[in-house]
Amino acid sequence: MIYLFCGILSSAVLGAICIPLFKKENTLESAIIEETEWDLLQRKKEVILGNIQDLDFEHKCGKLSDEDHQRIRNEMSAEAAVVLQEIETIESAKDLDALIRREISARQTRSKPASPTTSCSSCGASNPPSNKFCAECGARLKR
Ligand SMILES: [Zn+2]
Repeated sequence: MIYLFCGILSSAVLGAICIPLFKKENTLESAIIEETEWDLLQRKKEVILGNIQDLDFEHKCGKLSDEDHQRIRNEMSAEAAVVLQEIETIESAKDLDALIRREISARQTRSKPASPTTSCSSCGASNPPSNKFCAECGARLKR
């Protein structure tokens, strides 16, 4: 167990130390502050996702109990979620196209009826999304 923790920790630390070093060489000319922060977050994301993959692998190999696997995975997922959120914030602020696309899709969502419905694939009747079966014909509703 301790070995695994050390392994994860050291690979994460190593990644965090080494990757920016490599990165600096490549992007020396185009060193824009926002870009760098974004790159850094991307790197962080890669590291975390890599760690999750490693964790799943260890678990598959039987080196990790279900409980430990679940717990560590949850922690890593939470960390990944934070990074993804930060990336999204940067992207939405920077990428005007994405912003506009988002605005448009938000508008389209708003213009839809207030209560979303699931239409039956066999009779076309509108059903509340909580329904598993069509109220009209009893067919199973796809989600
Ligand atoms: Zn139906």
